[in-house]
Amino acid sequence: MEFFKKNNKGKDAKGTEESDGKKGKKGLKTTNNKQFWVNLFTTLVIFFLLVSTYSLIVEQRVSIEEIPISKLASDITEGVVASIVVKGDELEILYISEEEKKSKKEVGVALTDTLANYEVPMEALAGVQIEIKNPSGIRFWLFNLAPFLLPLVIIGFFLWFLSRQVKGAGMQAFTFGQSRARVTDPDDKTNRVTFKDVAGAKEAKEELLEIVDFLKNPKKFLDIGARIPKGIILMGAPGTGKTLLARAVAGEASVPFFSISGSEFVEMFVGVGASRVRDLFKVAKKSAPSIIFVDEIDAVGRVRGTGVGGGNDEREQTLNQILVEMDGFEPNEKVIVIAATNRPDVLDPALLRPGRFDRRVTIELPDRSDREAILKIHGRKKPFTEDVDLKVIAERTPGFSGADLYSLMNEGAILAARESRKKVAQFDFIRSIEKVMLGPERKSHILSAHEKKITAYHEAGHALVASLIPEADPVHKISIIARGHTGGYTLKLPFEDRRYQSKKEFIADIATALGGYIAERMVFNDLTTGPSSDLQMLTAIARNMVTKYGMSDKMGPIALEGTSGQVLYGGGLISKEFSEKVSGEIDEEVKRIIDSAYKTAEDILSKHRVVLDAIADKLIEVESLEREEFEKLLVMHGIKPKKKKEEEKEVKNRK
Ligand code: ADP
Ligand code: ZN
Ligand code: MG
Repeated sequence: MEFFKKNNKGKDAKGTEESDGKKGKKGLKTTNNKQFWVNLFTTLVIFFLLVSTYSLIVEQRVSIEEIPISKLASDITEGVVASIVVKGDELEILYISEEEKKSKKEVGVALTDTLANYEVPMEALAGVQIEIKNPSGIRFWLFNLAPFLLPLVIIGFFLWFLSRQVKGAGMQAFTFGQSRARVTDPDDKTNRVTFKDVAGAKEAKEELLEIVDFLKNPKKFLDIGARIPKGIILMGAPGTGKTLLARAVAGEASVPFFSISGSEFVEMFVGVGASRVRDLFKVAKKSAPSIIFVDEIDAVGRVRGTGVGGGNDEREQTLNQILVEMDGFEPNEKVIVIAATNRPDVLDPALLRPGRFDRRVTIELPDRSDREAILKIHGRKKPFTEDVDLKVIAERTPGFSGADLYSLMNEGAILAARESRKKVAQFDFIRSIEKVMLGPERKSHILSAHEKKITAYHEAGHALVASLIPEADPVHKISIIARGHTGGYTLKLPFEDRRYQSKKEFIADIATALGGYIAERMVFNDLTTGPSSDLQMLTAIARNMVTKYGMSDKMGPIALEGTSGQVLYGGGLISKEFSEKVSGEIDEEVKRIIDSAYKTAEDILSKHRVVLDAIADKLIEVESLEREEFEKLLVMHGIKPKKKKEEEKEVKNRK
């Protein structure tokens, strides 16, 4: 039983990043495969060449008949031998009949001695020309060494080849210190993202366009003495398109783009992160001009030395290394570092110092027209029915991030596909809004009749209070169908996006949040655990009013707490900055604000008890009420529904 105003929870659409990662790995694998076949092919070619030369040489030797030395001795005695050429232990014999033969003698013994042993008469030997030749270099070596060397060479080659394969595949233990940055291929047209794919975020785009321009055209800037920015940090809520923008930069700039996530620097072993940083910057500098993109830099860039998050040595070393590398840039080095984070408040101030990430670009949640543009981008490939009006969807989704809108469009298409329709209708998108906001309907969650009644009164309480306090946002929908982890909900949406909230609006929110609690108490004279999250929320609002926004008359204009949790730059955790006395006063003020809102809400509900009953009955009957039906109920009981500001003014003037 929750009461919703807007939803800022925005899921970080990890999907794209993950698929990115996968793509990277897949790419690596295919190149590995290719490499494998190329290697195998060359190996085989070389192998065949070696074998064929070897056999050629061997064959040459075989084609000449070899005779034993005893036969040679008898031939000489017979006087048919014309000449003998001695090459080492080999004998090439030419007969008078011009026949060629060969033979072998004992190594290290003179031919004449050998022949003498065979009792060849000296006269017969004198008729034979004997020539002694040193064995010819290459031939000798080939003949003699090839039989031993060839197998060795082949074995060695295979070993080398195998080790290469293994390295490519699994031996990542040895690539520890190397950065695992993914390099974006500028020629990959299918997955290319450009600024056209990013709606809104105008300032960020302008800033980044400048960077792209600089990298493409450094001379233009250097000539007029402009200093090149070193680092840009993109800050914004999750899902506002920071990663998308960075990818668009990669698509726009035709320079190497190295992207890595902050968490990838952090490994089990101290020092690995730092060495990855070194490696990454080295590679990037080598291929300058280039861009390094560090996503989720808060994973390494947290305030150092606070002990927050365990005082991780590894992280500090990594961060120090990033700082050192950025300081080490030459003034005209053409490497630019872009970082993204959704926690700028926890970043180490050293990172934000001039000369490092001195350009900061904040990406806000999209406003109404940006939302429409984002919806258009993601609707490009979806067939719509004629009734689809993205403007209406944009109006109904304040507080949605780009990622939420992306998932809304997707959910819509899924709904249509599930019902086997060829086109997506407006109705699908409207249903998806709630799904994205609150999670899927829990059909299995069946309430007992009594629980259903309690839920109905609770939500009716919220809705009625919201309708009767002028500053509260109008109710768009009431439902007692369980969704995500809520039992029922009342959806209120402002007429327009707001940047500031006023004190009166805060008080209206508190009163509206109390509506459920009061209705339960009034009707059943009992309470359930249902309103607990309402109570937490309204207490937080009241406390912020007192300690952050100076909205308490008693405390006056004083900020007692930082805007973003407990961590202040460099200072570590602040334990209570104020005295016990002030702390007591804060509690009193918070209570006073809540009490007064309680009174307002209670008055409204007891005065309009009939309407409360009517709304609750209707809810029990139909389970969810759209704005029109709800307003009809109000009108029936003489309550004017809220109108847009212009109309409101008219009403006031008439009074
Ligand atoms: P972040 O990194 O800020 O958390 P992402 O860049 O990962 O957010 O955004 C997630 C997805 O949301 C994107 O892939 C894109 O589909 C969608 N998205 C976010 N912002 C925009 C935008 N301005 N224009 C178009 N799509 C957007
Ligand atoms: Zn509630
Ligand atoms: Mg991101």
